[in-house]
Amino acid sequence: MTILDLFSLTGKTALVTGGNRGMGLAFARGLAEAGAEVTIVSRSAERNAEAIQSLEGDGLTVRAIDADITAPGIAKDVLAQAAESMGRVDILVNNAGLAIHESSFEIEDDDWNTVMDINLNALWKMSVAAAEVMREQGGGNIVNIGSISALIVNRPQWQPAYNASKAAVHQLTKSLAAEWAPYGIRVNAVAPGYVKTDMAPVDEPHFRQHWIEDAPMKRYAMPEEIAPTVVYMASEASSFMTGSVVVLDGGYTVY
Ligand code: NDP
Repeated sequence: MTILDLFSLTGKTALVTGGNRGMGLAFARGLAEAGAEVTIVSRSAERNAEAIQSLEGDGLTVRAIDADITAPGIAKDVLAQAAESMGRVDILVNNAGLAIHESSFEIEDDDWNTVMDINLNALWKMSVAAAEVMREQGGGNIVNIGSISALIVNRPQWQPAYNASKAAVHQLTKSLAAEWAPYGIRVNAVAPGYVKTDMAPVDEPHFRQHWIEDAPMKRYAMPEEIAPTVVYMASEASSFMTGSVVVLDGGYTVY
């Protein structure tokens, strides 16, 4: 066995939330290219079909579950479907998320709850549902997508709900890593800086100074630059890593 074999996911199965575009699509592609059998779960059946088609075009077979993971009781259903179609669930990537730019005096309860429901509550429910399956299987691996917004306050826009939700994701990562280590379940997180996706309008001139120029590398990332770290965390290459939050931000948080 060579060191690169440790990064292989051959024989593993993975479930990626929000896998039909943006970073989730890059993660689904990366995990599949590393050898895993992959299922994505997101709301839009149309976008899911497009994602599957684009992956198939590159010779990768990925399945989709069309579901809103904030719906009551859905997490167990999604895990049951994924476990049935793939035989087991070795890897869960909790990627689905949403940002709303609203200050503390503007944000209505509904918007606050929408952000918390997807970024934190759905991640929590999916994690517990997956860990129940993984505990039965004798182990597993959960990768959460946190954010530098858990570590700094973004500007010029205010987004207290998003920042609080991601700080909770980082701490939940550590909490669950401690609780589930005895079951052979590792839990880690990546904390990306600015990445070009539908969620982040990184090309808007209004954001350029604080999002781009303020960082040492003076650029945003593409989703494909975050995916290798997710593959690493999901693989045996990171076998001694649990409860870690890895920051990938072009140096943004050094200042
Ligand atoms: P996108 O907006 O590009 O993609 C979000 C994905 O989540 C889509 O696939 C969407 O699919 C899915 N999704 C949203 N809500 C739900 C739901 N209720 N149920 C199921 N799926 C859902 O976002 P990004 O790729 O930018 O973000 C991915 C993750 O990375 C998020 O957690 C985000 O907070 C985090 N992040 C992003 C950064 C960035 O700069 N882009 C920086 C740091 C962290 P559909 O709409 O079909 O449901």
